[in-house]
Amino acid sequence: MTSLPLISVDPDARGRRPAMPPRHLADLDLPGRQALVTELGEPAFRAKQISNHYFGRLVRDPERMTDLPAATRERLAGTLLPTLLTPVRELACDDGATRKALWRLHDGSMVESVLMGYPDRVTVCISSQAGCGMACPFCATGQAGLTRNLSTAEIVDQAVYLAGVAASGAVAGSPPRLSHVVFMGMGEPLANYARVVAAIRRLVTPAPEGLGLSQRHITVSTVGLVPAIRRLASEDLSVTLALSLHAPDDELRDELVPVNQRWKVSEVLDAAWDYAATTGRRVSIEYAMIKDVNDQPWRADLLGRLLAGKLAHVNLIPLNPTPGSRWDASPKPVEREFVRRLRDAGVSTTVRDTRGREIDGACGQLAAAEDRDSDPRAATA
Ligand code: SAH
Repeated sequence: MTSLPLISVDPDARGRRPAMPPRHLADLDLPGRQALVTELGEPAFRAKQISNHYFGRLVRDPERMTDLPAATRERLAGTLLPTLLTPVRELACDDGATRKALWRLHDGSMVESVLMGYPDRVTVCISSQAGCGMACPFCATGQAGLTRNLSTAEIVDQAVYLAGVAASGAVAGSPPRLSHVVFMGMGEPLANYARVVAAIRRLVTPAPEGLGLSQRHITVSTVGLVPAIRRLASEDLSVTLALSLHAPDDELRDELVPVNQRWKVSEVLDAAWDYAATTGRRVSIEYAMIKDVNDQPWRADLLGRLLAGKLAHVNLIPLNPTPGSRWDASPKPVEREFVRRLRDAGVSTTVRDTRGREIDGACGQLAAAEDRDSDPRAATA
């Protein structure tokens, strides 16, 4: 059995001092930006002006903020717009509708984000931590452990950057405006709670303070950190919660999602139903279909009994086998039978598309590491 990962709502609270990046305007709300700008001897309205560039027009480069006097630009850029993400590589597949960006952070850590265009919407999948401490054995990110939490602005900047890519018309056949954000990249968002919640506030507050996305279009995916789910329900936010269940029974979930050793299936589902009741939002239940591991008909029936009558939707994810993994995706007929049994139990169920597989940009494949820079598949994608 995989050992239990160290759980803390915010690992930094234990007194570790990871190399967090410099402060950026996206770390602050508008009053905070105004206070800082005033401290720098500039009129407070500059905060709005610079915020409008960043969130309203998706301009991240201070050099392009030409309505600001050069001296002001220089002074404010250094304090409010330090470079947080340096693109290392951008890969596209699905005829350009899926793009993965690999970033280097100020301390050399690497994270990834994915932009997915659909006819009616544009979604970005963003990372909340460099690495992940949750140790799910089928997930590529989980294998290397946690490097550090991302700052609020490092999280937000991924969305702003990719919103700019979408706005440039790069995603053919999709609307130009970013509409959805899912916290399904690297990391466990609820283990970086305060920064993730601040990032959500930036994403949903209208411009110029934030990006102005709909709360309903933000999805936070979690392994099931029960106290943090309950805390999220008490925020004045109603984002969609996705729960990575992957097994309906504790024996198997203890292995697939090791945090289950701390919070059992029944506890995590109770927290999810309370979340649904408080926010009125249907909870998304994530279930990676792993051949001969969690895909048996009896497990579909058990899952159906747990979810019937609840405000829930099941998202089955065909397993993306990670390098060296002993596991594979369930065969299609097995998957179809699983879906049939869930639907027969009255549970709404869909199978997730497998966008980005060829560029290692699909669920659970995000595992940026410098030694993968020489991966020949990446060079040819
Ligand atoms: N830490 C969060 C976000 C992780 S990524 C969480 O666990 O929810 C989003 C989803 O992809 C999770 O449901 C995760 O379990 C799933 N996933 C991870 N590795 C996968 C893989 N190899 N194949 C399919 N899904 C995977």
